[in-house]
Amino acid sequence: MQLSRYLRVYSCKENPGNSLIYSTRRGSLARISDPLLEAIHSGDLDTVTTEKLARIGILVPDPDAELEEARGLLSDVAARKGLFNITAVLNLDCNLACPYCFEGDFRRKQKMTDRTAGLLIERQILPQVERGRSIHIDFYGGEPLLTLQLLKGIAAPVADACRERGVGFTFDLFTNCTLLTRKVVEDLLPLGLRGVRMTLDGPREIHDRQRPFTSGRGSFGTIVANLKEIYDLVAVQITGNFGQDNWREFPRLLDHLLADGIRPEMLDLVQFSPIMPKSGDDAVPHHMGHCATGSEPWLLEAGPFLREETLRRGFPARKISMSACVVDFDNDLIVNWDGSFYKCPMFMGYPELSVGTLEDGMADYGVTHAIGSRWQTDECLECPYLPICFGGCRFLALQRGGSIRDLDCRRDYFDTLLESFVLQEQRYKSAIR
Ligand code: SF4
Ligand code: SF4
Repeated sequence: MQLSRYLRVYSCKENPGNSLIYSTRRGSLARISDPLLEAIHSGDLDTVTTEKLARIGILVPDPDAELEEARGLLSDVAARKGLFNITAVLNLDCNLACPYCFEGDFRRKQKMTDRTAGLLIERQILPQVERGRSIHIDFYGGEPLLTLQLLKGIAAPVADACRERGVGFTFDLFTNCTLLTRKVVEDLLPLGLRGVRMTLDGPREIHDRQRPFTSGRGSFGTIVANLKEIYDLVAVQITGNFGQDNWREFPRLLDHLLADGIRPEMLDLVQFSPIMPKSGDDAVPHHMGHCATGSEPWLLEAGPFLREETLRRGFPARKISMSACVVDFDNDLIVNWDGSFYKCPMFMGYPELSVGTLEDGMADYGVTHAIGSRWQTDECLECPYLPICFGGCRFLALQRGGSIRDLDCRRDYFDTLLESFVLQEQRYKSAIR
């Protein structure tokens, strides 16, 4: 048995003479005394300890086999899921006018037609159901609830078909929450509504500035009122987009929610992310986003601070776990309002990154999107952060002036921050999801 290559070893400040070993592959943590660490290195370990450390991924029987397993990790995960995941962009219309919206430059009140919705069901979803795959749809916009009938017109027949075939069907809403009343949630639950992802950009004055209605009026009051109506019915994830000038203010949002009776245990996740650059905008960004991380000095401070403030108040935060660019999963697809296919919503501002249409079917995007050739290099395969990086975010690589085939290397970011994130997870175990 040998130490896995997907480990970080940190000195244990609270217990001198011990180290903390974190497996990025398994998300496991072990405290190991210095003599034990020496015994591991010299191969002089007893059987019980060996088995224990192997079970949590700290030791592996064969380093070459571990490397081979890493190469196939993403395809294995996709195959095991047995799930076809569609993001359906019902419209590019919105009742808010957020100045930073990544769709801002190409959102012109477009809506998916009934014909396109029919093709989506017939050509993309039903064949997957026939193959025995469960279906999950993320209804996305614009604001998907501006086309509520269209949403129901897709969800209802898909729910019926999945029920008949005996496979699962769920859907989530990516919504600004201004139209999400209790009645809407009650109507959608029998159709398969599983969760809601909504956005609150910090305390009222910041949120109202960043997410006003098109009339200019602030949306904070409407959203919080709706949140209070629905959060006992459906799993709610709250996201928030912070900037360099306002991230320190975001904990005041959490205090506001607590004072308003919104209890942490009733939420599924609270996650603050830096504002994403706009899709189709080639300027080098100084913001990162939901799938992404960044290594600029202010982000290195903001990320751990906001996660700590979230956890300290008992709100749930995401566990560091295996994570990869969704583009690498062949059972994930974005279907735009006009029936064009993309592999990431952030690519919708780049028509040249479309990977097919409902009319013409899927194109071969293996070369254009660097499937199987991006992170499968010695440098990444030997990197301790591979299981939580897999080459990072293609969109951010593109935004930096490169291409979606380039790496978005996060080594510096993880070198600086992973230890503090791991220690947070130790301190606030019950709030980690
Ligand atoms: S390119 Fe990949 S990692 Fe980046 S936002 Fe899109 S899906 Fe997420
Ligand atoms: S992109 Fe960088 S951090 Fe990510 S796996 Fe490759 S070498 Fe490691």
